[in-house]
Amino acid sequence: MTTPLADPTLCIHSWHAHVYFDGPVQRELAAVLRERIAARFEVQLGRWHDALVGPHTRPMYMLAFEPAQFALVVPFLALNRQGLDVLVHPNTLAPRADHLVNAIWLGQRLPVNEAALPEIISVHDVEPVLINSWPG
Ligand code: ZN
Repeated sequence: MTTPLADPTLCIHSWHAHVYFDGPVQRELAAVLRERIAARFEVQLGRWHDALVGPHTRPMYMLAFEPAQFALVVPFLALNRQGLDVLVHPNTLAPRADHLVNAIWLGQRLPVNEAALPEIISVHDVEPVLINSWPG
């Protein structure tokens, strides 16, 4: 009996967590969460997007992290998200499925702009995690 090969487009090279906020109160909560993340985890903290960008339908910032960090970062977000909605998605070579089918939502599921998501990307388009948070 043979085991079917995994679909190479579904290999997870990194994860993103998009922390959404709506209005100044939520933005302040997002800032507190961001500081806590920076104090604890080796991740790439993306810049603030107060204007809508890509498939996202609310202001947000992103963190990117290696698969090995998942079991640390995601439980922390689950318990410390301050009531904010967070999209956690894998990064494979299939961005549309990553965001729409295989995503994990903490809090409410928000609309995602499908038109901004290519179905498949090349391995050359994979963005590495550029860690810019070095706790301790
Ligand atoms: Zn993302």
